[in-house]
Amino acid sequence: MRDLLPYLKLYKKHWLWLSMGILLALITVSASISLLTLSGWVLTISAISGLGMSIAYETFNYIVPMAIIRLLSVLRTIGRWTEKTITHDVTFKLLTELRVFFFRKISPLIPGNIYNLRNADLLNRLIADISAIDHIYIRLINPIIVGIFGITILSMFLFLFNKTIGLILGTILLLLLLIWPIIFYNLGKKNGNELAQCRTKLRIITLDWLQAYSELTLFGAEKKYRNTILYTQKNLSLKQFNNANFSGIAHGALILTSGLTLLLIVWVLINQEQILFLDPVYSIIIFSSIASFELLIPISGAFHFLGQTITSARRVNEIISDEPKIKFMNHMTKHSGHYSIQFKNVYFQYPNSNHQVLKNINLNIEDQQKIAIIGKTGSGKSTLLQLLFHYWIPQKGIISIANQPLALWNESQLRKTISVVSQRVHILNATLRDNLRIASPNIEDHKLLQILNDFFLEHLLEDKGLDTWLGNGGYDLSGGEKRRIDIIRSILHDAPILILDEPTEGLDKKTEKKVMKKLEYHFKLKTVIIITHRLIKLDKMDSVFLIEEGKITKYHSRSSLLKNKYS
Ligand code: ATP
Ligand code: MG
Repeated sequence: MRDLLPYLKLYKKHWLWLSMGILLALITVSASISLLTLSGWVLTISAISGLGMSIAYETFNYIVPMAIIRLLSVLRTIGRWTEKTITHDVTFKLLTELRVFFFRKISPLIPGNIYNLRNADLLNRLIADISAIDHIYIRLINPIIVGIFGITILSMFLFLFNKTIGLILGTILLLLLLIWPIIFYNLGKKNGNELAQCRTKLRIITLDWLQAYSELTLFGAEKKYRNTILYTQKNLSLKQFNNANFSGIAHGALILTSGLTLLLIVWVLINQEQILFLDPVYSIIIFSSIASFELLIPISGAFHFLGQTITSARRVNEIISDEPKIKFMNHMTKHSGHYSIQFKNVYFQYPNSNHQVLKNINLNIEDQQKIAIIGKTGSGKSTLLQLLFHYWIPQKGIISIANQPLALWNESQLRKTISVVSQRVHILNATLRDNLRIASPNIEDHKLLQILNDFFLEHLLEDKGLDTWLGNGGYDLSGGEKRRIDIIRSILHDAPILILDEPTEGLDKKTEKKVMKKLEYHFKLKTVIIITHRLIKLDKMDSVFLIEEGKITKYHSRSSLLKNKYS
Protein backbone atom coordinates (compact mmCIF):
# COMPACT_ATOMS: atom_id res chain seq x y z
CA MET A 1 0.00 0.00 0.00
CA ARG A 2 2.90 2.33 0.74
CA ASP A 3 3.68 2.11 -2.98
CA LEU A 4 0.54 4.13 -3.70
CA LEU A 5 1.44 7.07 -1.44
CA PRO A 6 3.38 9.21 -3.95
CA TYR A 7 0.31 9.20 -6.22
CA LEU A 8 -2.21 10.01 -3.49
CA LYS A 9 -0.22 13.21 -2.89
CA LEU A 10 -1.10 14.33 -6.42
CA TYR A 11 -4.78 14.20 -5.40
CA LYS A 12 -4.38 17.13 -3.01
CA LYS A 13 -4.59 19.70 -5.77
CA HIS A 14 -8.03 18.43 -6.87
CA TRP A 15 -9.50 17.83 -3.42
CA LEU A 16 -12.55 20.02 -4.12
CA TRP A 17 -13.65 18.16 -7.27
CA LEU A 18 -12.79 14.80 -5.76
CA SER A 19 -14.95 15.62 -2.72
CA MET A 20 -17.73 16.82 -5.04
CA GLY A 21 -17.56 13.47 -6.81
CA ILE A 22 -17.92 11.65 -3.49
CA LEU A 23 -20.81 13.90 -2.40
CA LEU A 24 -22.64 13.37 -5.68
CA ALA A 25 -22.08 9.60 -5.51
CA LEU A 26 -23.55 9.66 -2.00
CA ILE A 27 -26.58 11.70 -3.15
CA THR A 28 -27.12 9.32 -6.10
CA VAL A 29 -26.96 6.14 -4.06
CA SER A 30 -29.17 7.73 -1.34
CA ALA A 31 -31.73 8.69 -4.00
CA SER A 32 -31.59 5.15 -5.36
CA ILE A 33 -32.12 3.51 -1.94
CA SER A 34 -34.88 6.00 -1.02
CA LEU A 35 -36.58 5.37 -4.37
CA LEU A 36 -36.86 1.63 -3.81
CA THR A 37 -37.87 2.09 -0.17
CA LEU A 38 -40.54 4.69 -0.91
CA SER A 39 -41.91 2.80 -3.91
CA GLY A 40 -42.13 -0.37 -1.79
CA TRP A 41 -43.93 1.56 0.93
CA VAL A 42 -46.45 3.13 -1.48
CA LEU A 43 -47.06 -0.23 -3.23
CA THR A 44 -47.65 -1.91 0.12
CA ILE A 45 -50.16 0.79 1.12
CA SER A 46 -52.01 0.55 -2.16
CA ALA A 47 -52.10 -3.25 -1.84
CA ILE A 48 -53.52 -3.01 1.65
CA SER A 49 -56.15 -0.44 0.71
CA GLY A 50 -56.91 -2.21 -2.59
CA LEU A 51 -57.62 -5.43 -0.76
CA GLY A 52 -59.80 -3.50 1.68
CA MET A 53 -57.72 -4.81 4.55
CA SER A 54 -57.41 -1.51 6.35
CA ILE A 55 -59.75 1.45 6.28
CA ALA A 56 -56.98 3.73 7.49
CA TYR A 57 -55.30 3.71 4.07
CA GLU A 58 -58.36 4.02 1.90
CA THR A 59 -58.12 7.80 2.00
CA PHE A 60 -54.33 7.77 1.67
CA ASN A 61 -52.98 10.75 -0.27
CA TYR A 62 -50.81 9.20 -3.02
CA ILE A 63 -49.96 12.47 -4.68
CA VAL A 64 -47.15 13.55 -2.32
CA PRO A 65 -45.22 10.22 -2.23
CA MET A 66 -45.69 9.79 -6.01
CA ALA A 67 -44.27 13.27 -6.56
CA ILE A 68 -41.32 12.44 -4.27
CA ILE A 69 -40.76 9.20 -6.23
CA ARG A 70 -40.61 11.22 -9.46
CA LEU A 71 -38.25 13.70 -7.83
CA LEU A 72 -36.00 10.91 -6.54
CA SER A 73 -35.78 9.21 -9.92
CA VAL A 74 -34.89 12.51 -11.59
CA LEU A 75 -32.38 13.21 -8.81
CA ARG A 76 -30.85 9.77 -9.26
CA THR A 77 -30.41 10.25 -13.01
CA ILE A 78 -29.07 13.80 -12.77
CA GLY A 79 -26.88 12.82 -9.79
CA ARG A 80 -25.37 9.87 -11.64
CA TRP A 81 -24.71 11.91 -14.77
CA THR A 82 -23.11 14.80 -12.86
CA GLU A 83 -21.10 12.43 -10.69
CA LYS A 84 -19.77 10.53 -13.71
CA THR A 85 -18.95 13.76 -15.53
CA ILE A 86 -17.09 15.23 -12.56
CA THR A 87 -15.25 12.07 -11.52
CA HIS A 88 -14.21 11.24 -15.07
CA ASP A 89 -13.11 14.79 -15.73
CA VAL A 90 -10.97 14.88 -12.60
CA THR A 91 -9.65 11.37 -13.33
CA PHE A 92 -8.51 12.43 -16.80
CA LYS A 93 -6.88 15.52 -15.32
CA LEU A 94 -5.09 13.29 -12.82
CA LEU A 95 -4.06 10.95 -15.61
CA THR A 96 -2.50 13.84 -17.51
CA GLU A 97 -0.69 14.99 -14.39
CA LEU A 98 0.50 11.47 -13.60
CA ARG A 99 1.93 11.07 -17.09
CA VAL A 100 3.60 14.49 -17.00
CA PHE A 101 4.90 13.71 -13.49
CA PHE A 102 6.35 10.40 -14.72
CA PHE A 103 7.81 12.00 -17.83
CA ARG A 104 9.43 14.80 -15.80
CA LYS A 105 10.95 12.17 -13.54
CA ILE A 106 12.32 9.95 -16.29
CA SER A 107 13.80 12.52 -18.65
CA PRO A 108 16.67 13.52 -16.30
CA LEU A 109 17.29 9.80 -15.69
CA ILE A 110 18.02 9.00 -19.31
CA PRO A 111 21.63 10.18 -19.45
CA GLY A 112 23.82 7.54 -17.91
CA ASN A 113 21.01 5.27 -16.82
CA ILE A 114 17.89 4.17 -18.63
CA TYR A 115 19.78 2.60 -21.48
CA ASN A 116 19.15 -0.70 -19.70
CA LEU A 117 15.33 -0.34 -19.91
CA ARG A 118 13.65 -1.39 -23.11
CA ASN A 119 11.47 1.09 -24.98
CA ALA A 120 8.38 -1.12 -24.86
CA ASP A 121 8.80 -1.60 -21.13
CA LEU A 122 9.05 2.14 -20.54
CA LEU A 123 6.04 2.70 -22.78
CA ASN A 124 4.08 0.12 -20.83
CA ARG A 125 4.94 1.83 -17.57
CA LEU A 126 3.91 5.18 -19.00
CA ILE A 127 0.59 3.94 -20.43
CA ALA A 128 -0.81 0.80 -18.77
CA ASP A 129 0.76 1.11 -15.32
CA ILE A 130 -0.12 4.78 -14.99
CA SER A 131 -3.74 4.03 -16.04
CA ALA A 132 -3.94 1.29 -13.40
CA ILE A 133 -2.74 3.78 -10.77
CA ASP A 134 -5.25 6.29 -12.04
CA HIS A 135 -8.10 3.92 -11.04
CA ILE A 136 -7.36 4.28 -7.32
CA TYR A 137 -9.87 7.09 -6.87
CA ILE A 138 -12.78 5.74 -8.92
CA ARG A 139 -12.41 2.10 -7.92
CA LEU A 140 -11.25 2.35 -4.34
CA ILE A 141 -11.32 5.71 -2.57
CA ASN A 142 -14.69 6.97 -3.81
CA PRO A 143 -16.71 3.75 -3.13
CA ILE A 144 -15.15 3.23 0.32
CA ILE A 145 -15.94 6.77 1.53
CA VAL A 146 -19.43 6.63 0.00
CA GLY A 147 -19.89 3.19 1.64
CA ILE A 148 -18.90 4.38 5.13
CA PHE A 149 -21.14 7.48 5.03
CA GLY A 150 -24.01 5.69 3.31
CA ILE A 151 -24.02 2.81 5.82
CA THR A 152 -23.92 5.23 8.77
CA ILE A 153 -26.81 7.34 7.45
CA LEU A 154 -28.94 4.30 6.54
CA SER A 155 -28.38 2.56 9.88
CA MET A 156 -29.32 5.73 11.75
CA PHE A 157 -32.47 6.02 9.63
CA LEU A 158 -33.49 2.40 10.37
CA PHE A 159 -32.57 2.90 14.02
CA LEU A 160 -35.44 5.39 14.20
CA PHE A 161 -37.91 2.62 13.24
CA ASN A 162 -36.31 -0.35 14.91
CA LYS A 163 -33.12 -0.15 17.01
CA THR A 164 -32.18 -3.85 16.63
CA ILE A 165 -32.58 -3.85 12.86
CA GLY A 166 -30.62 -0.59 12.54
CA LEU A 167 -27.75 -2.10 14.55
CA ILE A 168 -27.84 -5.48 12.78
CA LEU A 169 -27.89 -4.07 9.26
CA GLY A 170 -25.25 -1.39 10.09
CA THR A 171 -22.93 -4.03 11.60
CA ILE A 172 -23.37 -6.47 8.70
CA LEU A 173 -22.76 -3.79 6.07
CA LEU A 174 -19.71 -2.38 7.87
CA LEU A 175 -18.28 -5.88 8.35
CA LEU A 176 -18.77 -6.60 4.65
CA LEU A 177 -17.13 -3.28 3.81
CA LEU A 178 -14.14 -4.43 5.83
CA ILE A 179 -14.05 -8.12 4.89
CA TRP A 180 -14.80 -7.95 1.16
CA PRO A 181 -11.71 -5.87 0.31
CA ILE A 182 -9.46 -8.12 2.43
CA ILE A 183 -10.81 -11.36 0.92
CA PHE A 184 -10.82 -10.18 -2.68
CA TYR A 185 -7.55 -8.29 -2.49
CA ASN A 186 -5.85 -11.48 -1.27
CA LEU A 187 -7.69 -13.67 -3.78
CA GLY A 188 -6.80 -11.43 -6.71
CA LYS A 189 -3.28 -10.42 -5.62
CA LYS A 190 -1.28 -13.18 -7.31
CA ASN A 191 -3.38 -13.15 -10.45
CA GLY A 192 -3.30 -9.33 -10.65
CA ASN A 193 0.46 -9.30 -10.29
CA GLU A 194 0.86 -11.94 -13.03
CA LEU A 195 -1.61 -10.07 -15.22
CA ALA A 196 0.46 -6.87 -15.01
CA GLN A 197 3.67 -8.82 -15.83
CA CYS A 198 1.98 -10.65 -18.70
CA ARG A 199 0.70 -7.43 -20.21
CA THR A 200 4.21 -5.95 -20.11
CA LYS A 201 5.73 -9.06 -21.67
CA LEU A 202 3.14 -9.09 -24.45
CA ARG A 203 3.86 -5.44 -25.32
CA ILE A 204 7.62 -5.99 -25.35
CA ILE A 205 7.61 -9.08 -27.53
CA THR A 206 4.97 -7.72 -29.91
CA LEU A 207 6.96 -4.55 -30.44
CA ASP A 208 10.15 -6.60 -30.95
CA TRP A 209 8.34 -8.78 -33.48
CA LEU A 210 6.98 -5.76 -35.35
CA GLN A 211 10.30 -3.93 -35.46
CA ALA A 212 12.39 -6.95 -36.40
CA TYR A 213 9.80 -8.49 -38.75
CA SER A 214 12.04 -8.37 -41.87
CA GLU A 215 15.07 -9.87 -40.07
CA LEU A 216 12.95 -12.54 -38.41
CA THR A 217 11.41 -13.52 -41.75
CA LEU A 218 14.79 -13.60 -43.51
CA PHE A 219 16.28 -15.83 -40.81
CA GLY A 220 13.19 -18.04 -40.64
CA ALA A 221 12.57 -17.17 -36.98
CA GLU A 222 9.31 -15.27 -37.46
CA LYS A 223 7.05 -18.22 -36.62
CA LYS A 224 8.86 -18.93 -33.37
CA TYR A 225 8.49 -15.31 -32.25
CA ARG A 226 4.84 -15.21 -33.37
CA ASN A 227 4.14 -18.35 -31.36
CA THR A 228 5.66 -16.75 -28.25
CA ILE A 229 3.29 -13.81 -28.77
CA LEU A 230 0.30 -16.14 -29.14
CA TYR A 231 1.33 -18.11 -26.06
CA THR A 232 1.69 -14.92 -23.98
CA GLN A 233 -1.63 -13.65 -25.34
CA LYS A 234 -3.28 -16.90 -24.24
CA ASN A 235 -1.72 -16.56 -20.83
CA LEU A 236 -2.94 -12.98 -20.54
CA SER A 237 -6.47 -14.02 -21.53
CA LEU A 238 -6.36 -16.68 -18.83
CA LYS A 239 -5.39 -14.09 -16.21
CA GLN A 240 -8.16 -11.78 -17.46
CA PHE A 241 -10.58 -14.70 -17.31
CA ASN A 242 -9.55 -15.33 -13.67
CA ASN A 243 -10.07 -11.67 -12.93
CA ALA A 244 -13.55 -11.75 -14.46
CA ASN A 245 -14.27 -14.84 -12.33
CA PHE A 246 -13.25 -12.98 -9.19
CA SER A 247 -15.61 -10.15 -10.17
CA GLY A 248 -18.40 -12.67 -10.69
CA ILE A 249 -17.74 -14.45 -7.41
CA ALA A 250 -17.53 -11.17 -5.48
CA HIS A 251 -20.77 -9.95 -7.00
CA GLY A 252 -22.63 -13.26 -6.63
CA ALA A 253 -21.50 -13.71 -3.02
CA LEU A 254 -22.69 -10.19 -2.26
CA ILE A 255 -26.16 -10.92 -3.66
CA LEU A 256 -26.27 -14.15 -1.63
CA THR A 257 -25.24 -12.27 1.52
CA SER A 258 -27.88 -9.67 0.76
CA GLY A 259 -30.56 -12.42 0.58
CA LEU A 260 -29.37 -14.05 3.80
CA THR A 261 -29.32 -10.68 5.57
CA LEU A 262 -32.90 -10.09 4.45
CA LEU A 263 -33.93 -13.47 5.86
CA LEU A 264 -32.19 -12.60 9.13
CA ILE A 265 -34.02 -9.27 9.31
CA VAL A 266 -37.41 -10.89 8.67
CA TRP A 267 -36.60 -13.57 11.26
CA VAL A 268 -35.65 -10.91 13.83
CA LEU A 269 -38.85 -9.00 13.15
CA ILE A 270 -40.93 -12.16 13.54
CA ASN A 271 -39.14 -12.99 16.76
CA GLN A 272 -39.79 -9.52 18.04
CA GLU A 273 -43.43 -10.33 17.30
CA GLN A 274 -43.59 -6.92 15.76
CA ILE A 275 -44.18 -7.84 12.21
CA LEU A 276 -47.62 -6.85 11.28
CA PHE A 277 -47.96 -7.44 7.63
CA LEU A 278 -50.66 -4.88 7.54
CA ASP A 279 -48.28 -2.20 8.77
CA PRO A 280 -46.48 -0.67 5.77
CA VAL A 281 -43.72 0.70 8.04
CA TYR A 282 -42.13 -2.75 7.87
CA SER A 283 -41.96 -2.53 4.14
CA ILE A 284 -39.67 0.50 4.69
CA ILE A 285 -37.34 -1.69 6.76
CA ILE A 286 -37.41 -4.58 4.29
CA PHE A 287 -37.01 -2.51 1.12
CA SER A 288 -34.27 -0.26 2.50
CA SER A 289 -32.40 -3.40 3.63
CA ILE A 290 -32.61 -4.81 0.10
CA ALA A 291 -31.49 -1.52 -1.43
CA SER A 292 -28.70 -0.99 1.10
CA PHE A 293 -26.51 -3.51 -0.75
CA GLU A 294 -26.20 -1.00 -3.58
CA LEU A 295 -23.64 0.70 -1.35
CA LEU A 296 -21.38 -2.33 -1.57
CA ILE A 297 -21.68 -3.17 -5.26
CA PRO A 298 -18.84 -0.85 -6.42
CA ILE A 299 -16.58 -2.27 -3.71
CA SER A 300 -17.34 -5.89 -4.56
CA GLY A 301 -15.83 -5.54 -8.02
CA ALA A 302 -12.85 -3.42 -7.10
CA PHE A 303 -10.47 -5.10 -4.73
CA HIS A 304 -9.20 -7.94 -6.83
CA PHE A 305 -7.77 -5.14 -9.03
CA LEU A 306 -5.79 -3.72 -6.13
CA GLY A 307 -2.97 -6.27 -6.55
CA GLN A 308 -2.61 -5.17 -10.17
CA THR A 309 -2.64 -1.50 -9.18
CA ILE A 310 0.01 -2.04 -6.49
CA THR A 311 2.24 -3.98 -8.94
CA SER A 312 1.86 -1.13 -11.43
CA ALA A 313 2.67 1.48 -8.78
CA ARG A 314 5.74 -0.54 -7.79
CA ARG A 315 6.89 -0.72 -11.40
CA VAL A 316 6.50 3.03 -11.83
CA ASN A 317 8.19 3.68 -8.45
CA GLU A 318 11.19 1.60 -9.52
CA ILE A 319 11.89 4.29 -12.07
CA ILE A 320 10.85 7.49 -10.40
CA SER A 321 12.63 6.72 -7.12
CA ASP A 322 15.91 6.61 -9.03
CA GLU A 323 18.10 9.69 -8.63
CA PRO A 324 19.44 11.30 -11.81
CA LYS A 325 23.05 10.26 -12.25
CA ILE A 326 23.84 13.40 -14.21
CA LYS A 327 23.03 16.73 -12.65
CA PHE A 328 23.05 20.18 -14.16
CA MET A 329 23.12 23.64 -12.64
CA ASN A 330 19.81 25.47 -12.36
CA HIS A 331 21.39 28.79 -13.25
CA MET A 332 23.38 29.75 -16.32
CA THR A 333 27.13 29.43 -16.10
CA LYS A 334 29.35 32.43 -16.86
CA HIS A 335 32.02 31.39 -19.29
CA SER A 336 34.70 32.95 -21.44
CA GLY A 337 32.63 32.96 -24.65
CA HIS A 338 35.57 31.21 -26.36
CA TYR A 339 34.43 27.71 -27.05
CA SER A 340 37.53 25.69 -26.36
CA ILE A 341 37.24 22.06 -25.22
CA GLN A 342 39.45 20.34 -22.70
CA PHE A 343 39.72 16.74 -21.47
CA LYS A 344 42.07 16.42 -18.50
CA ASN A 345 43.22 12.97 -17.32
CA VAL A 346 39.86 11.44 -18.21
CA TYR A 347 39.21 7.76 -17.45
CA PHE A 348 35.91 6.10 -18.34
CA GLN A 349 34.25 2.73 -18.31
CA TYR A 350 30.54 1.99 -18.70
CA PRO A 351 28.64 0.90 -15.59
CA ASN A 352 28.30 -2.92 -15.41
CA SER A 353 31.32 -3.32 -17.65
CA ASN A 354 34.91 -4.17 -16.77
CA HIS A 355 36.30 -2.75 -19.96
CA GLN A 356 38.14 0.54 -19.49
CA VAL A 357 37.07 2.33 -22.69
CA LEU A 358 39.11 5.52 -22.20
CA LYS A 359 42.39 5.79 -20.28
CA ASN A 360 43.99 9.03 -19.22
CA ILE A 361 42.64 11.11 -22.09
CA ASN A 362 44.19 14.57 -22.42
CA LEU A 363 42.82 16.68 -25.21
CA ASN A 364 42.97 20.42 -25.83
CA ILE A 365 40.92 21.95 -28.61
CA GLU A 366 41.14 25.70 -29.02
CA ASP A 367 38.18 27.92 -29.84
CA GLN A 368 37.32 27.60 -33.57
CA GLN A 369 39.86 24.83 -34.10
CA LYS A 370 38.87 21.96 -36.38
CA ILE A 371 40.00 18.51 -35.37
CA ALA A 372 39.37 14.97 -36.52
CA ILE A 373 39.31 11.85 -34.37
CA ILE A 374 39.92 8.51 -35.98
CA GLY A 375 40.22 5.02 -34.61
CA LYS A 376 39.15 1.45 -35.13
CA THR A 377 35.58 0.41 -34.54
CA GLY A 378 34.84 0.05 -30.84
CA SER A 379 37.87 2.14 -29.86
CA GLY A 380 35.75 4.67 -27.90
CA LYS A 381 35.26 7.58 -30.32
CA SER A 382 31.50 7.95 -29.81
CA THR A 383 31.98 7.41 -26.07
CA LEU A 384 34.35 10.38 -25.97
CA LEU A 385 31.65 12.54 -27.54
CA GLN A 386 28.96 11.30 -25.19
CA LEU A 387 31.16 12.37 -22.30
CA LEU A 388 31.34 15.81 -23.88
CA PHE A 389 27.51 16.01 -24.06
CA HIS A 390 27.50 15.17 -20.32
CA TYR A 391 25.61 11.94 -21.03
CA TRP A 392 28.02 10.02 -18.82
CA ILE A 393 30.39 11.16 -16.09
CA PRO A 394 34.00 9.98 -16.22
CA GLN A 395 35.25 8.02 -13.21
CA LYS A 396 38.32 10.27 -13.13
CA GLY A 397 39.29 13.55 -14.74
CA ILE A 398 37.58 16.76 -15.80
CA ILE A 399 35.98 17.83 -19.05
CA SER A 400 35.54 21.56 -19.68
CA ILE A 401 33.95 23.69 -22.35
CA ALA A 402 34.87 27.38 -22.52
CA ASN A 403 37.02 26.85 -19.43
CA GLN A 404 34.03 25.75 -17.33
CA PRO A 405 33.80 22.15 -16.12
CA LEU A 406 30.66 20.43 -17.48
CA ALA A 407 29.33 20.01 -13.94
CA LEU A 408 28.88 23.81 -13.79
CA TRP A 409 26.78 24.05 -16.95
CA ASN A 410 23.06 24.54 -17.16
CA GLU A 411 21.47 21.86 -19.37
CA SER A 412 19.71 24.05 -21.93
CA GLN A 413 22.77 26.30 -22.12
CA LEU A 414 24.95 23.29 -22.88
CA ARG A 415 22.53 21.97 -25.51
CA LYS A 416 22.53 25.39 -27.22
CA THR A 417 26.33 25.32 -27.28
CA ILE A 418 26.72 22.02 -29.14
CA SER A 419 25.28 20.86 -32.47
CA VAL A 420 25.59 17.18 -33.22
CA VAL A 421 25.31 14.77 -36.09
CA SER A 422 25.14 11.55 -34.14
CA GLN A 423 26.00 8.09 -35.34
CA ARG A 424 22.46 6.85 -34.83
CA VAL A 425 20.09 9.25 -36.54
CA HIS A 426 16.56 9.35 -35.23
CA ILE A 427 13.80 10.44 -37.56
CA LEU A 428 10.59 11.44 -35.81
CA ASN A 429 7.24 10.09 -36.87
CA ALA A 430 6.33 13.49 -38.33
CA THR A 431 6.60 15.63 -41.47
CA LEU A 432 9.87 16.64 -43.09
CA ARG A 433 9.26 20.20 -41.84
CA ASP A 434 8.75 19.08 -38.23
CA ASN A 435 11.79 16.84 -38.39
CA LEU A 436 13.93 19.81 -39.36
CA ARG A 437 12.26 22.32 -37.09
CA ILE A 438 13.29 20.47 -33.94
CA ALA A 439 16.66 22.14 -34.49
CA SER A 440 15.26 25.62 -35.18
CA PRO A 441 11.56 25.94 -34.35
CA ASN A 442 10.93 29.28 -36.08
CA ILE A 443 12.79 28.75 -39.32
CA GLU A 444 10.89 29.80 -42.45
CA ASP A 445 9.96 27.34 -45.16
CA HIS A 446 11.99 28.98 -47.93
CA LYS A 447 15.17 28.56 -45.87
CA LEU A 448 14.37 24.89 -45.32
CA LEU A 449 13.82 24.42 -49.06
CA GLN A 450 17.15 26.10 -49.79
CA ILE A 451 19.14 23.95 -47.37
CA LEU A 452 17.44 20.74 -48.58
CA ASN A 453 18.58 21.71 -52.08
CA ASP A 454 22.10 22.40 -50.81
CA PHE A 455 22.32 18.86 -49.51
CA PHE A 456 20.77 17.24 -52.59
CA LEU A 457 17.52 16.23 -50.91
CA GLU A 458 15.16 18.13 -53.23
CA HIS A 459 13.67 14.83 -54.44
CA LEU A 460 12.06 14.39 -50.99
CA LEU A 461 9.95 17.46 -51.76
CA GLU A 462 8.51 16.08 -55.00
CA ASP A 463 5.20 14.86 -53.66
CA LYS A 464 4.00 16.97 -50.76
CA GLY A 465 6.92 19.33 -50.25
CA LEU A 466 7.80 19.99 -46.61
CA ASP A 467 4.59 18.20 -45.58
CA THR A 468 6.03 14.87 -46.73
CA TRP A 469 5.50 12.36 -43.95
CA LEU A 470 8.68 10.69 -42.70
CA GLY A 471 6.82 8.33 -40.34
CA ASN A 472 7.89 4.91 -39.19
CA GLY A 473 11.21 6.15 -37.82
CA GLY A 474 12.28 7.15 -41.32
CA TYR A 475 11.97 3.61 -42.71
CA ASP A 476 11.19 5.03 -46.11
CA LEU A 477 14.46 6.96 -46.23
CA SER A 478 17.84 5.62 -47.22
CA GLY A 479 20.69 5.63 -44.68
CA GLY A 480 22.42 8.44 -46.57
CA GLU A 481 19.23 10.55 -46.67
CA LYS A 482 18.69 10.19 -42.94
CA ARG A 483 22.27 11.24 -42.31
CA ARG A 484 21.90 14.33 -44.49
CA ILE A 485 18.69 15.29 -42.65
CA ASP A 486 20.71 15.11 -39.44
CA ILE A 487 23.49 17.21 -40.98
CA ILE A 488 20.88 19.85 -41.90
CA ARG A 489 19.53 19.77 -38.36
CA SER A 490 23.00 20.36 -36.95
CA ILE A 491 23.48 23.33 -39.28
CA LEU A 492 20.07 24.80 -38.42
CA HIS A 493 20.82 24.46 -34.72
CA ASP A 494 23.79 26.76 -35.37
CA ALA A 495 25.73 26.24 -32.13
CA PRO A 496 29.34 27.43 -31.66
CA ILE A 497 30.57 23.82 -31.31
CA LEU A 498 29.83 21.37 -34.11
CA ILE A 499 30.33 17.65 -33.59
CA LEU A 500 30.02 15.18 -36.42
CA ASP A 501 30.12 11.44 -35.74
CA GLU A 502 30.70 9.74 -39.10
CA PRO A 503 28.68 12.41 -40.98
CA THR A 504 29.17 10.89 -44.43
CA GLU A 505 28.61 7.23 -43.58
CA GLY A 506 26.32 5.61 -46.15
CA LEU A 507 27.15 8.11 -48.91
CA ASP A 508 28.91 7.23 -52.14
CA LYS A 509 32.29 8.89 -52.70
CA LYS A 510 31.00 11.52 -55.09
CA THR A 511 28.10 12.61 -52.87
CA GLU A 512 30.37 12.45 -49.84
CA LYS A 513 32.76 14.94 -51.43
CA LYS A 514 29.92 17.29 -52.34
CA VAL A 515 28.31 17.06 -48.90
CA MET A 516 31.63 17.68 -47.15
CA LYS A 517 32.21 20.75 -49.26
CA LYS A 518 28.82 22.20 -48.32
CA LEU A 519 29.35 21.25 -44.71
CA GLU A 520 32.77 22.90 -44.53
CA TYR A 521 31.16 26.18 -45.44
CA HIS A 522 29.40 26.03 -42.05
CA PHE A 523 32.62 25.23 -40.17
CA LYS A 524 33.59 28.92 -40.16
CA LEU A 525 33.71 30.51 -36.67
CA LYS A 526 32.93 27.14 -35.05
CA THR A 527 34.90 24.66 -32.99
CA VAL A 528 34.57 21.41 -34.94
CA ILE A 529 35.18 17.77 -34.03
CA ILE A 530 34.68 15.24 -36.77
CA ILE A 531 34.85 11.50 -36.23
CA THR A 532 35.57 9.42 -39.25
CA HIS A 533 36.89 6.10 -40.46
CA ARG A 534 37.83 7.57 -43.79
CA LEU A 535 40.87 9.72 -44.17
CA ILE A 536 39.46 12.01 -46.83
CA LYS A 537 39.71 15.74 -46.28
CA LEU A 538 41.73 15.35 -43.11
CA ASP A 539 44.28 17.79 -44.49
CA LYS A 540 41.78 20.56 -43.88
CA MET A 541 41.88 19.77 -40.17
CA ASP A 542 44.15 21.58 -37.72
CA SER A 543 45.00 18.32 -35.97
CA VAL A 544 44.13 14.65 -36.20
CA PHE A 545 43.80 12.44 -33.12
CA LEU A 546 44.00 8.68 -33.10
CA ILE A 547 42.27 6.65 -30.39
CA GLU A 548 43.85 3.29 -29.81
CA GLU A 549 43.42 0.94 -26.87
CA GLY A 550 41.72 3.67 -24.88
CA LYS A 551 44.51 6.21 -25.37
CA ILE A 552 44.59 9.24 -27.62
CA THR A 553 47.57 10.45 -29.66
CA LYS A 554 47.83 13.73 -31.53
CA TYR A 555 49.08 14.00 -35.11
CA HIS A 556 49.50 17.34 -36.80
CA SER A 557 48.25 16.25 -40.16
CA ARG A 558 46.93 13.38 -42.21
CA SER A 559 50.35 12.78 -43.77
CA SER A 560 52.14 12.56 -40.42
CA LEU A 561 49.46 10.12 -39.24
CA LEU A 562 49.85 8.00 -42.34
CA LYS A 563 53.61 8.04 -42.00
CA ASN A 564 53.42 6.86 -38.41
CA LYS A 565 50.46 4.65 -38.04
CA TYR A 566 47.12 4.54 -39.73
CA SER A 567 47.07 2.88 -43.09
P1 ATP B 1 32.41 2.73 -34.05
O1 ATP B 1 33.50 3.23 -34.94
O2 ATP B 1 32.02 1.33 -34.40
O3 ATP B 1 31.27 3.65 -33.96
P2 ATP B 1 33.35 3.70 -31.51
O4 ATP B 1 34.82 3.99 -31.52
O5 ATP B 1 32.45 4.87 -31.66
O6 ATP B 1 33.03 2.57 -32.58
P3 ATP B 1 32.06 3.33 -28.97
O7 ATP B 1 30.68 3.35 -29.43
O8 ATP B 1 32.59 4.53 -28.29
O9 ATP B 1 33.05 2.93 -30.17
O10 ATP B 1 32.25 2.07 -28.01
C1 ATP B 1 33.45 1.84 -27.30
C2 ATP B 1 33.27 0.56 -26.46
O11 ATP B 1 32.28 0.75 -25.45
C3 ATP B 1 32.82 -0.64 -27.27
O12 ATP B 1 33.54 -1.75 -26.81
C4 ATP B 1 31.35 -0.79 -26.94
O13 ATP B 1 30.96 -2.13 -26.96
C5 ATP B 1 31.27 -0.23 -25.54
N1 ATP B 1 29.98 0.44 -25.30
C6 ATP B 1 29.39 1.39 -26.05
N2 ATP B 1 28.24 1.81 -25.51
C7 ATP B 1 28.08 1.11 -24.37
C8 ATP B 1 27.07 1.10 -23.33
N3 ATP B 1 26.02 1.91 -23.36
N4 ATP B 1 27.25 0.23 -22.30
C9 ATP B 1 28.32 -0.58 -22.25
N5 ATP B 1 29.29 -0.61 -23.18
C10 ATP B 1 29.19 0.23 -24.24
MG1 MG C 1 30.90 5.31 -32.88
